[in-house]
Amino acid sequence: MSYSQSFRIGKGEKVDLNHFDPDASDGHHDKQSASAEMAELLPRLQQLQALLYAENRRSLLICLQAMDAGGKDGTIRHVIGPLNPQGTRVHSFKVPSPEEAAHDFLWRIHRQVPARGEIAIFNRSHYEDVLVTRVHRLVPKKVWSQRYRQIVDFEANLTAAGTRILKFFLHISPEEQLRRFKQRLDDPGRHWKISDADYSERELWPDYQQAYAEALAKTSTAAAPWFVIPANHKWFRNLAVTRILIETFESMQMAYPPPSVDLEEIRQRYHAASTQPISTS
Ligand code: AMP
Ligand code: MG
Repeated sequence: MSYSQSFRIGKGEKVDLNHFDPDASDGHHDKQSASAEMAELLPRLQQLQALLYAENRRSLLICLQAMDAGGKDGTIRHVIGPLNPQGTRVHSFKVPSPEEAAHDFLWRIHRQVPARGEIAIFNRSHYEDVLVTRVHRLVPKKVWSQRYRQIVDFEANLTAAGTRILKFFLHISPEEQLRRFKQRLDDPGRHWKISDADYSERELWPDYQQAYAEALAKTSTAAAPWFVIPANHKWFRNLAVTRILIETFESMQMAYPPPSVDLEEIRQRYHAASTQPISTS
C-alpha cells in the first residue's frame, strides 16, 4: 500500500494516538537500508520539485507538527534540504508577536502560504491555535472550538486556488522525547535548543495528545489530509515523509509548460548567431 494511504487519517476518522506505534518502520530494519532507499528517492523528489516550479501553476504546503524534540527541524534538514532553495520556503511559527496577536489567528498564516510553483514548509502552523492555545487555555473553549471549522474552510480556500496541502504529525513516544532531551543536554552544540518550557510542556503530554487527536480527526480532509508519521526512528520518519511527497506529486500529473516561443524561429536565430561571432576586442 502507498504511504499516502497507510499513514493517512481518513475524513471523520476517530483518532486515538495510543493506537499508532511511534516505533513502526514498515519492515525497514535500520538506518543503512533506509539511507539506500533515500538515495534513490531524493533525486526523484528533486525532479518533481523542478517540475512544480517549471509548471508554475500549483503549489504545495507542508505543515509539520510534533511534540518538542519530535523532529520537525530534522525532517526539514533531511527532506527539504536537498531541494532547490529557489522555489522552497520555510517558515517557523513562534509565540505570536504583538502585531500578530492583534489579528485573527489565520492572519500571520495566510501571509506565508506558497505562491504558484513554490513549496512552503510550516515548522508549526495554524494548528498551534488549537493545540498550545487549547492546552494552556489561552482563549475560551468557545473560541478554539470554532477554529477547526475555520481551519477547514481556510484550507479549502487554498486548495481551490491550486495549493496541495499535506499535514504531518511526527509521532514520538514520551520515552523517545526524554532520550532526545538527554542528547541535547550532553551535546553543547544543541544546548541552544533547550527551553525552560520543555519539561513543563512534557507534563502536559496527555492533554497535548488529546488536543492533537481532536485536531487530526476534525481537520483531516480529502484535500488537506493529516498523516501520523511514526517518528521514533528518525530515518523512517524521513523516508515516510519523502515517499508521501513523491506520491502526492506523482498524483498531480504535472507537465512542463509548452515553450512560449516559436522553436523553429529560435533555431534559425541560433544558427545565424553561431555563424556571426561577437567581436569582443
Ligand atoms: P520552537 O518551535 O521550539 O522554537 O518553539 C516555538 C514556541 O512557540 C512553541 O512553544 C509553540 O508552542 C509556541 N507557539 C507557536 N505558535 C503559537 C501560538 N499561536 N500561540 C501560542 N504559542 C505558540
Ligand atoms: Mg522547542
